[in-house]
Amino acid sequence: MDLIIATKNKGKAGEIAALLREFDVRVLTMDAFPEIGDIPETGETFEENALIKARAVARLTGMAALADDSGLEVDALAGAPGVYSARFSGPDATDATNNALLLSKLEGVPPEDRGARFVSVIAVHAPVMDGKELLARGTWSGRITLSPHGENGFGYDPLFIDEELGLTSAQLKPDEKNKRSHRAMALRRLAVAWPDFIRDIRDKGPNG
Ligand code: IMP
Repeated sequence: MDLIIATKNKGKAGEIAALLREFDVRVLTMDAFPEIGDIPETGETFEENALIKARAVARLTGMAALADDSGLEVDALAGAPGVYSARFSGPDATDATNNALLLSKLEGVPPEDRGARFVSVIAVHAPVMDGKELLARGTWSGRITLSPHGENGFGYDPLFIDEELGLTSAQLKPDEKNKRSHRAMALRRLAVAWPDFIRDIRDKGPNG
């Protein structure tokens, strides 16, 4: 079965492709569909946005699509940036401007009050039976550092410390991050329902 990863974020797509190795699927990325533009994320929850992206890409490609909507919830900011993590510092946000804004908003907040979690919600939409869907959520708890550390990963990784390891997620090797991350947890949960899901799709055929 073919499965398209509905994200243009290379960091995310790489992690998801690695995590999908144990699934019995051929993985395609959005590079195969350059004509598909950005899909507006109009939802107010990770679940809504993950479904919006998976449904849109499945409709535009005719293939089963997997989308991740993810972000960082910071306790001292009442859960912000949350679903707005990618655009935290505005429409032209980059990882660097988002990280700088996060550190400035947390200035003066002591380490014990810098608790945070990454959240990932993964949705799969398959264009069979009028759209068969799966949804799974994973979280990764940690703390926001006082300054960036590490070169790996993407987004807020240099600022997010896994307290058990005492390292930021940007200091972890990709396979180490993929054992502990919110995205890995969501995909592990998805894997539980996966065999029944693909059995249904294979039974019904690609167009239901
Ligand atoms: P989305 O495309 O709306 O899901 O954007 C997710 C945003 O959340 C990313 O652009 C990052 O800023 C942040 N984010 C999600 N997952 C991670 C991660 O694993 N590491 C670092 N930042 C992440």
